[in-house]
This record gives sequence, structure tokens and C-alpha cells, in this order.
Amino acid sequence: MTLFGLVFLVIGGLSESTASAWGVAFIFGAASFVAPVLPMPVMLQSLFGNATILVSFFYYGEALLRHFGAPRLIAVRLIFSLLAYASLIVAIVGAQSRSLELATSDVAVALLLGGPLALVIWRARSLMDRVLVGVAAIAVIDILVRLFIFNGLNGMSTELADFAGSSYTYYAQVNVGVLSVAFAMAGLGSVTVATLETYRHAAERDPLTGLLNRRGFDSAVASLSMAQRVAGIVMTCDIDNFKQVNDSSGHASGDAVLAGLAALLLSRLPSTALVARFGGEEFVVFLLDMPLASGAALGQSIRADFSASDWRSVGVQRQITMSLGVAAPVMSENSMHEALARADRALYAAKSAGRNQVVIDAGDSYVPGLRIAPAA
Ligand code: GH3
Ligand code: MG
Ligand code: MG
Repeated sequence: MTLFGLVFLVIGGLSESTASAWGVAFIFGAASFVAPVLPMPVMLQSLFGNATILVSFFYYGEALLRHFGAPRLIAVRLIFSLLAYASLIVAIVGAQSRSLELATSDVAVALLLGGPLALVIWRARSLMDRVLVGVAAIAVIDILVRLFIFNGLNGMSTELADFAGSSYTYYAQVNVGVLSVAFAMAGLGSVTVATLETYRHAAERDPLTGLLNRRGFDSAVASLSMAQRVAGIVMTCDIDNFKQVNDSSGHASGDAVLAGLAALLLSRLPSTALVARFGGEEFVVFLLDMPLASGAALGQSIRADFSASDWRSVGVQRQITMSLGVAAPVMSENSMHEALARADRALYAAKSAGRNQVVIDAGDSYVPGLRIAPAA
């Protein structure tokens, strides 16, 4: 457990990460096992052991809540832990009853882990996350079953000093050992999956606008069937004279315009649309299940909205417009890039025809005449 704890702490550092919470949980869990052999009076061993167990389970719960992004309820769990420890002091120092101590401790840790588990169990989607909540659930059930069997059915010695050699201790340590390894593996697995997911997301997104980047667009397109591809359309959008916006208002204003266009696209396009920024001020969209004419009309309406946008709040005094090219992928094409190239040709036709307009590519017979003229 110490080793697992150190591994998690190295991964998580001192940040408020899931890994660092696992790290603290395992280190304190390991410390609790040392309690019965520490050279000190039994009562102090118990007080030390219970404190470390509570900290450990507080952090197991914390790790679950952090991992699933659930409300952390720190104050509630902290007050609960302090009350539990106060009860434990009464059981150990006041009543000097081992069975009362164990019952209190078992109920407390079952709740410290079970409470957060109940909050996150429905959030587990991936296989790794399900394994994690599964192991946590088994751990909670194990604690309660152990409490019931040893404290409830068998009746046990109430003497504090009987703890180290008792069958309860033997059973508990074997069980907790096995479950700790399972828990550590599941925790490590879910931290790894979450980390990979973070990097995958970063690799496929444009940091300025949050849209897909070229790689993200390509991998999203790759998961579409041929039928889906030919039922949709691609649209390329390029801001007109964007260099002048940068030159006259500054790069930061230019960035704000790019983010503004991204937000406009996301708000106006269907949620199923793949929306990407391919670098610079060129945006690419794939619309699923969209006839060419409808896609062009949608593009035209977004173009009109964009040209009517007021950019004074980001330091741009003038009107900004964009040009669009629209094309439909066809069965004979091997990749979406061929349709994209045709949409790009239509876009350049829009640029040469005076900008601020939508041009449709009509497949093999490219017809610049299908231009949709801008509104006056
Ligand atoms: P056109 O109407 O022909 O598209 O003219 P344009 O000025 O928009 O096109 P051009 O390709 O000449 O210039 C694109 C400019 O986009 C150049 C560069 O300064 C700017 N740009 C590219 N990426 C970014 C970015 O991330 N942020 C900002 N602010 N500007 C960018
Ligand atoms: Mg441009
Ligand atoms: Mg450009």
C-alpha cells in the first residue's frame, strides 16, 4: 500500500488531483496497519490506528469524488470524520471496548467511502470506471459484512489488547490487503484512462476556439460510414481580409473574432455537426444528413449573421465578413478530403467573386454560376 501510495503521489504531485488523493489514502491506509505493532500503549495504538484509517477513507472518498467530478462535500465529510473520531475516543478511552471501537470505526469508514460512492456510481461510463466503482462497492459491503459477522454474530472479545492476535484482525487484514490491491489497480487504471483521454482531447482540439482541429476532424470523419458521408455536406469558411483585422486592431482582437465565429458556428449548426478550425482563419464543417441546398441556405444565414455582428466590444470598429464554399461528398470519392478540396475551390470562387458570399460546388460539374449572392 505504501508503494501504491507513493506511485500515486508521484503521478499526482501535490496538486488537487485524483491521483494525489489516492496517494494520501494509500499512505494513511498503510500507516493504519502499523498501529498494532507500534511500541506504545494499546490505547494509543488504537487512537493512532483509527485516526489513520479515517484519513485514509476520507481520501478514498475524495479520490472518487474528484475522479468523477462530483460535488466534494468537504465540510460535511470533515465534520462527519471528526464526530466519528470523537465517538472512537469515547469507545477507546471511555468505554475501553474493542467491539464498540470496531463497530464505530467500521460504520464510519463504510459511510466515508459509501457516501461518495453513492454520489458517483451513476457517473461511471467506461469499463475502467465501472471496475473502480465495483471494487469500491465490494469494499463497502466487505466492511459491513465483516462487522456483522464478527461483531454481531460471533460476539468478540471486548478487550483492547486482544486485537492484534484476533481472528477478526487476521480476516480484516487479509481482506483489506486483497481489496487494497484491487482498489489500487482500479484507481491506477482509471487515472491512466482519464489522463489518456485528456491528452487525446488536447491533441484533437484547437485551444483557441475549443473546436476540433484537423486531426480531430479527420478522426471524427473516419468513424462515419460511407452512407453517412454521402448523406451529408462539407462547408469551408474563411474570414475575409482577416489580415487587415489583425493589422488594424491587433492580434488579440483577431483572436477574439476567431473565438466569436467559432461560438456563432456552434450556436447555429446542429449539435451533430463536426465543426473544426483547420488553422489560421479557416473553419471546416461537416453536416450530417443535410441536402446540399439546405446546407448552403444554412451557410448563407450564418454568413449574414456574421457580417451583421458588432465587434466593437473586442476592439474592432469595422464590419467583418466571411466567404463559404459548400460541397457534397460523393460515392466515387475515396476520402472526405476530395470533397473538402471541392468545397475549397468553391470558397476561392466566392473570394474571387467579391467575398462575403456562399458558393456551392455541384460535384463533377463545378458550376460557379450556383453562387448565392450576398444580401445587399
Ligand atoms: P482573404 O479574404 O483572401 O481570406 O484574406 P485574408 O487576409 O483573410 O487571408 P490571408 O490568408 O492573407 O491572411 C490570413 C491571416 O490570418 C494572416 C494571419 O495574420 C491571420 N491569422 C492566422 N491565424 C491566426 C490566429 O490564430 N490569430 C489571429 N489573430 N490571426 C491569425
Ligand atoms: Mg481569410
Ligand atoms: Mg485563409
